[in-house]
This record gives sequence, C-alpha cells and structure tokens, in this order.
Amino acid sequence: MLNIDVRRIVRKIHELAKDMDDIKIMGFCGTHEYVISYYGIRSIMPDNVELIAGPGCPVCVVPASYIDECIRLALDGIRVFTYGDMYRVPGSKMSLSQARAEGADVKVVYSFLDAIKLARDGKESVFFGIGFETTQPSVASRIVHGDVPENLKIVSAYRLTPPIMRYILEKVKDVKINGIIAPGHVSTITGSKAWEFLPKEFKIPVVVAGFEPYDVIIAIFEILRQIKFKDLRLFNEYSRAVREEGNVKAWQYVMKAFRISDASWRGIGLVEKSGLELRNEFIKYDAKVEYGLKFKGGRDVIPGCRCADVILGRAKPTDCPLFLKVCRPSSPKGPCMVSSEGTCAIWARYGTLKIGINLNLEE
Ligand code: SF4
Repeated sequence: MLNIDVRRIVRKIHELAKDMDDIKIMGFCGTHEYVISYYGIRSIMPDNVELIAGPGCPVCVVPASYIDECIRLALDGIRVFTYGDMYRVPGSKMSLSQARAEGADVKVVYSFLDAIKLARDGKESVFFGIGFETTQPSVASRIVHGDVPENLKIVSAYRLTPPIMRYILEKVKDVKINGIIAPGHVSTITGSKAWEFLPKEFKIPVVVAGFEPYDVIIAIFEILRQIKFKDLRLFNEYSRAVREEGNVKAWQYVMKAFRISDASWRGIGLVEKSGLELRNEFIKYDAKVEYGLKFKGGRDVIPGCRCADVILGRAKPTDCPLFLKVCRPSSPKGPCMVSSEGTCAIWARYGTLKIGINLNLEE
C-alpha cells in the first residue's frame, strides 16, 4: 500500500518538475541524507531536481580547536567524557581515540547522565558537550537543577540550527537553494515556527519532515508544488511529532542554563548567534573558564578535504579527491567521514544504492 502511494507521489513530482528550471533542495539533517541515500531517493528524481546535503551533522561542525583542547586536558590526566561519534573525529593532529591510545584519559559515554554518574567518583572530569537543539535540554535541565557534581565541567560546543541555515542563504552566494527540508528531530524542540523566516525573508519553501522515505518524498513533492504555484510557505509534514511551538519547557531549560553567542563552525568560521555558552550563574561548570581553554586556531581541514563545502551544499563527497581513496569510514581524514550523520560516511556506505533495493518500487 505504501509503495503504491509513493509511486503516485513520485509520478506527481515528475509532473511538477516538468518545464521547471534546475531545482536544488537542501536536506538540512544528516538523518535525512541517510534516508535519501539508503533508499536511493536521488535515483528516482527528475533530472532537474537535485537533492543536496546540508550542515546537519553535529560532530562535523565542531572546530578542531575544541578537540585539541579536550585532548590537552585528557593528556593532563583530566578525564574527558565524549560521545562515540566525536571520539573518532580528527582534531588538528589526532582524534580523541588516538589520544587515548597515547595514554589520554578519554571515556566514551552515551549520555550526559552517564557522565554525571561516573563523575560521582570525585575525579576531575570534563564533558565534551556537542549537538544541536535536540541534545541540549537534557544537559541544561541537569545544570539548572544543580544535579551535576562540581568536579564535572562542561565544554560547550553546542550549536543552533536556524542561524547556520540563515548563514548559508545570506553568505554562500554560489549555492542557489530553491527549497529546504528542515530537520524533524530538532523541530520537536524548536517548533516548526523556527523555520518561518525561510519563506518570509528568503522566499524559499520549507518543509519540516520526518524520517521515513515517504516523509522525504512528500517533502520534495510539497516543495515543488509550492514553487510551481508560487505558494511559498512553511509546511509541517511531521505533525505527528512536531508542534508549531515545539517543546517549550525543554527550550526554557536551555535558555536558563545557556546564553546564545556567536560561534565557530568547522572550516566555515564565525556564525552569528549560533552557539551556546553557560550563563554566569553556572560558571562553576564551565571548562573554558576553569582551564583557560582557547578555541582558536587549530587545523579544521587537511589539504584536499572538502568537508566544509559539503556541509554548505557547495560540493558532493564525490567532488573530494580523497573520497574513498585515502578517506574512508575505517580511516576518516575529515569530520564528514566519521559519524552516521556525516554526508561522506553516508555516501561511502550507500551512495550508489538505487531505488528498488531498499524501497522496492518496482511493479
Ligand atoms: S571524503 Fe573525507 S577528506 Fe573528503 S570531504 Fe569527505 S571527510 Fe573530507
């Protein structure tokens, strides 16, 4: 039944795209890129509709200097808690996993709560906090409730998603984006309203979409429909999970614990109001203050790596001369090849899949 519906929508996509100029649709989220690649959705698009990946991989966008500073702490004997994805991302000289092999005190955790539990042993520790709006409330609520041991400090590398989308549309002039698939998970926190500025200010259709293949296909259909009928607006396709106002309580926790600041994105530079810093009342948890960390310098990209261009929609992984030659999921040279949300890692695993393998669209 699902396949019949999908076929019908795909046919409509082809009808809508007929006679249109070339259309570029950016899927913000790494999980959307996974769905597009794993289900071979690109292979059923009309020739003039290109699906490009966006910046929605939280470990890909953390500057190398943050990794370098965490490694410095860990080599000094301060225990660094990190997520598994971040563990393997290259810093300027090495990753946290390589540092651990050299004796650094690095421990992989699944959540901030795990870090809190482990830090109750009293050892001087740091939690490497990364992620978009989805992961921030669970950390913020613990901080606000004072449920964090004082020997556990936080490196805040949290980033916000609407400001980077604004940055791409305002500053990356050589990429013309005609429609955006907004991140579903993030929008459960921010609400769909966080994306209203896209049609209002940039005259671009935006669809908040879920993560089933039909969600993405419906989003593409809706974007083309809006373009065709000049009906540009925000459409929430993921209304089964996302409300207009989002999770107000969760976001209140984030805003109580953190303040919004300008922040660097790996290989891109400073993006206005796109990061989170701990508020003064919680400064006792701030690793940056406690250890005088400097998130400056660092080597974000090695020669040849086009990860920043991939994140900004300027390049595909296959445009990178290192892709699957020296840079592979088993030996990543750039951050986009590490995480399951990294575009290069996704293309390395599923980039050549065609529709019919995982979506079974044949008659
Ligand atoms: S394939 Fe590797 S080196 Fe090339 S852009 Fe991707 S992460 Fe960077």
